[in-house]
Amino acid sequence: MSETASSAAEPRIRFEVETTIPTNHGDFRFRAYTDTVTGDVHLAICSGVPRDGMLVRVHSECLTGEAFGSMKCECGPQLDAALNIIQAEGGAVLYLRGHEGRGIGLLNKLRAYRLQEDGLDTVDANLALGLPADARDFIGAAKILDDLGVAEVRLLTNNPLKSQSLEEHGIRVTARVPLEVGRNVINDDYLRVKAERMGHLFGDQSS
Ligand SMILES: [Zn+2]
Repeated sequence: MSETASSAAEPRIRFEVETTIPTNHGDFRFRAYTDTVTGDVHLAICSGVPRDGMLVRVHSECLTGEAFGSMKCECGPQLDAALNIIQAEGGAVLYLRGHEGRGIGLLNKLRAYRLQEDGLDTVDANLALGLPADARDFIGAAKILDDLGVAEVRLLTNNPLKSQSLEEHGIRVTARVPLEVGRNVINDDYLRVKAERMGHLFGDQSS
């Protein structure tokens, strides 16, 4: 629908299809979009009619955490919790593909995990591979919200950079709602590094 004139050629995202999927979190409307730059297919997983001020989770794909229950991160529990909250309150989970390992891809994520076995933290492992600590961009998420006719959201995240990135792409974030689930004895250090080195905010952590 609405695309700004800056990209005279093709819009950044292209709506493809919408269908209902019943899940163990309830029924959602799944809207699929192709990112015309990266080729990734993103999903807007919607409950209720999209509207300004709705609750939104911008969630980065994590195969290891979501499909295999990896305890090295908190992505699986966060996605489950977000779907439950969105189902109850209405809103959308924007599920961004191509964001595996904060955007470095599955293979490099596993390489970074291998380096972490030698004692590097999540940031230094990426840097040792010659990769950025965080390679994600959130333009696609902002453009999907444009397509949904939503200019203003409450964002379900611990990561202030996500709010900032959406704001930079024209979405007003009126509130940040924390999503603190999935901490365990294995990922505790990882979450501490995200707080100390990547600006993530955790209410139960004084770093
Ligand atoms: Zn993860």
